[in-house]
Amino acid sequence: MSKNPAVTMNWMIPRTLFGPEHTDFRTTVRRFFAEEVTPHRERFETQQHVDRELWRKAGALGLLCPTMPESYGGSGVDRRFSMILMEEQAYAGDSGCGFALHSDIVANYIQHFGTPAQKEHWLPRMASGDTITAIAMTEPGTGSDLQNVQTRAHRHGDHYILNGSKIFITNGYLSDLVIVVARTEDASGAAALSLLLVESGSPGFSKGMPLKKIGMKAQDTCELFFQDVSVPVTSRLGEEGMGFIMLMQELAWERLMIAIMCMAGAEYALAETLAYVQQRKVFGKPVASFQNTRFTLAELKTEIQIGRVFVDRCMEQLLESTLQIDAAAAAKYWCSDLLSKVVDACVQLHGGYGYMLDYPIARAWIDMRANRIYGGTNEIMKEIISRTL
Ligand SMILES: Cc1cc2nc3c(=O)[nH]c(=O)nc-3n(C[C@H](O)[C@H](O)[C@H](O)COP(=O)(O)OP(=O)(O)OC[C@H]3O[C@@H](n4cnc5c(N)ncnc54)[C@H](O)[C@@H]3O)c2cc1C
Repeated sequence: MSKNPAVTMNWMIPRTLFGPEHTDFRTTVRRFFAEEVTPHRERFETQQHVDRELWRKAGALGLLCPTMPESYGGSGVDRRFSMILMEEQAYAGDSGCGFALHSDIVANYIQHFGTPAQKEHWLPRMASGDTITAIAMTEPGTGSDLQNVQTRAHRHGDHYILNGSKIFITNGYLSDLVIVVARTEDASGAAALSLLLVESGSPGFSKGMPLKKIGMKAQDTCELFFQDVSVPVTSRLGEEGMGFIMLMQELAWERLMIAIMCMAGAEYALAETLAYVQQRKVFGKPVASFQNTRFTLAELKTEIQIGRVFVDRCMEQLLESTLQIDAAAAAKYWCSDLLSKVVDACVQLHGGYGYMLDYPIARAWIDMRANRIYGGTNEIMKEIISRTL
């Protein structure tokens, strides 16, 4: 097994997205995962969340909220830096750090829709890692049909009284601040939804223990409960009733983020497997020498290269602000399907060792499955694409 397969991926198609400043940043990120995350993985998995201190270490290195303006504690850089963070996390075989959701989803909502006071208060704390954030949309009875959210926030003077529950919330257990999607009017449908900033420790706000997942065991995912939680009106993000519209603004980026992680995950799986089949001998020959192995790897390499070109092109379009919602949906569904196919084939090439969690490929196999479900299921992605035909 190679210690760092990413450095040996000389089979990857040359990429044109990055300049020298990105390469330097990649080196810093790679070192962070190698030194601060990989050695502690088993403990993180046992406790079902990473250490709070890890967030502060990442913040000190400028690895949280990199695209935030410097005035709010970020580095004011472009989204290729976020892409590098996601890729390096995948190349390190990590699925425990919920940094991307915090830095590239929650922080964006606060930056785009927050009042000056909200931005000044929360963004620097998020960039330093002192405040960990989550976004809570999904409910036990509402997932793909987000417009059906039942969590309610009734207005009483200058406060809302929040009641309801959320499920499967990434970073939920460690979260200090949660964007909660709630119904602020009795009307049904999307027009009655608002976004509320709810602080951990607010009376009536409680958290379940981290949920026991098939994979992504070090990532904290939990239920949140709200019972008569008093939320100041000043903690509403954006206009009342505009929650759904706000959630739609960044969907292309949020779906591309999953495609980015899936492509890097597929590259990681192939690199790990190449290293394995070259050293494992069966019938006196390396597994790599069998025609079945060579053809399987050739097919995987080809499809990974196709996916890589598509995702990098989507990223270019994102940077030019021309990425269409259906292209992002296509990237999310196709790359997460590809990751499943690649990792499964790679497990097969590992034989029984591929089923053992001591091997990175086994971890990759249990981790990859959620990508076809979260961020909008792949079936919903196909709905979106079909509407454009
Ligand atoms: C590890 C993990 C982390 C998550 N993190 C978060 C988070 O941080 N915040 C958050 O809010 N949520 C989070 N989620 C929730 C996730 O976004 C939802 O699970 C997802 O949107 C699907 O909703 P659901 O589970 O209710 O499935 P359902 O909506 O009940 O779907 C069940 C099945 O029906 C299919 N289906 C639904 N509608 C249609 C349709 N119109 N046409 C065809 N098929 C359809 C789906 O594709 C799926 O196969 C997370 C989930 C996981 C697994």
